[in-house]
Amino acid sequence: MSDIWIMRIGHRPDRDKRVTTHVALSSRALGARGIYVDTKDSKLEESVRSVVNRFGGDYTIKTGISWKVAIKDFKGKKVHLTMYGQRIDEALNVIPKDEDIMIIVGAKKVPLEVYQCADYNISVGNQPHSEIAALAIFLDRYTKGKALYENRNGTLTVVPNERWKTVVNNS
Ligand code: SAM
Repeated sequence: MSDIWIMRIGHRPDRDKRVTTHVALSSRALGARGIYVDTKDSKLEESVRSVVNRFGGDYTIKTGISWKVAIKDFKGKKVHLTMYGQRIDEALNVIPKDEDIMIIVGAKKVPLEVYQCADYNISVGNQPHSEIAALAIFLDRYTKGKALYENRNGTLTVVPNERWKTVVNNS
């Protein structure tokens, strides 16, 4: 499968630290290659990189990236998640799997221009909910859960266990 990138629009470091961190971590766990965040936020970069350093894999975070430039320069399909978009079950049949995709999610109200720049405006249900939930459902369906238990060659590996916590330290 091709690479999946996330573009996070409208990030406010004071209010959205936790949600944007979870957008990044959820997208990483579900198979994305990295995230672009429009507002510069060094602490956010640090906390996401700290997870990548310990748990491995190839995941990049860049903050302070203009969404206009990132979307314009992206070579692949742009997928904007919005409750106003077309149904996810219909859209998944037409999004190519052999091209990179950039998934755009908002924090506050997303500028109308984004709806026009996107190749697909896709809803995960027609009710307002959360960018983390929308992204997780979209990624799980798009990748069919492929990344969930893949080996990331991290310093730490969590081994699935029915009752206890099993963590292998590979250092
Ligand atoms: N009031 C904002 C607006 O009108 O755009 C909603 C912001 S919402 C809390 C944050 C983000 O969650 C949205 O930009 C969108 O990416 C995502 N989102 C929320 N509900 C969604 C849904 N039903 N389907 C797809 N994405 C959704």
